[in-house]
Amino acid sequence: MIVVLRPRTPEEQIQEVVGAVKRFGYEPRLIRGVELTVIACVGDERRHHTLETLTVMPQVERVMPVQKRFKLVSREFHKADSSVRVDGVTVDAHSFHVIAGPCSVESERQVLETARMVKAAGATMLRGGAFKPRTSPYDFSGLGKEGLRILKKAKQETGLPIVTEVMSPDDVAAVSEVADMIQIGTRNAQNYALLHAAGRSHKPVFLKRGMASTVEEWLNAAEHIAAEGNARIILCERGIRTFETATRFTLDLNGVAVAKKETHLPVFVDPSHGVGRADLITPLARAAVAVGCDGLMIEVHPDPKRALSDGAQQLVPGSFEEMMAALRPFAELMGRRIG
Ligand code: PEP
Ligand code: MN
Repeated sequence: MIVVLRPRTPEEQIQEVVGAVKRFGYEPRLIRGVELTVIACVGDERRHHTLETLTVMPQVERVMPVQKRFKLVSREFHKADSSVRVDGVTVDAHSFHVIAGPCSVESERQVLETARMVKAAGATMLRGGAFKPRTSPYDFSGLGKEGLRILKKAKQETGLPIVTEVMSPDDVAAVSEVADMIQIGTRNAQNYALLHAAGRSHKPVFLKRGMASTVEEWLNAAEHIAAEGNARIILCERGIRTFETATRFTLDLNGVAVAKKETHLPVFVDPSHGVGRADLITPLARAAVAVGCDGLMIEVHPDPKRALSDGAQQLVPGSFEEMMAALRPFAELMGRRIG
């Protein structure tokens, strides 16, 4: 941390800050300029009490961190792209995987039909929510355990690994019995009890970015999982809140490019929730491939107009197939093979 003092701070007040820095467990090194004095505080910021508290002292102008808060998930810690195995599927720097399926598990027929079709079109994992976080308490909130049973059956039939959301630490064990990768949704992206429970599980975790999280907060959320001993994490950009209302959210491909630099974890993109409109999924999926993401999550429903959630953004099977065909040359250009 660097502590910047106000111009012309008297010596006695400088020493007051020096004393406080020492009490926090850092070694202070004074840099005296003509007007400004700066204190470089040597010590591991991850172990010590935060020095940001010092901003309450009137002679302190700013406290600036020099180290990133996340470590295990950072590229500094692990240079090469990490690969994550999800059942029989390996996500790595050469592959390109598409996770597809309905927003919500609604019926056995709906899921099985979708699973067969997305597999035939090249998807390598099946998604579907059994536990659904909904903005309104009156909306369909998933079939719960019955939904898990249906997903299990879909896996038995198609062999596709299952990706499904868990909303509460208490459900991690039950969801993990069926899920090959547990999803933490945008609304729970900073639910630390849930992140810790996912970190203690032995399942890969698909971590959506919080809709109001900065990239740093997103990577720190991943660090919470990794710090509990589970490094099998895939990040997913799914759109953030901005002033724009033409689309449901704003798909932050900047954030994907930043995340690819800052972390060794695979980064996926979910254009379905990002734009919220079926007609914009393919162009955004193409852009996501071009920006260098490692895979996509796409919502597909056999009959979106009857969907119990997110009908407007779910692709019909035919459109999903067309999207996959449209993506192949882009993936090849990026040196990746789909599937
Ligand atoms: C989902 O993928 O089903 C979902 C609810 O996504 P998000 O958490 O990104 O809104
Ligand atoms: Mn959805």
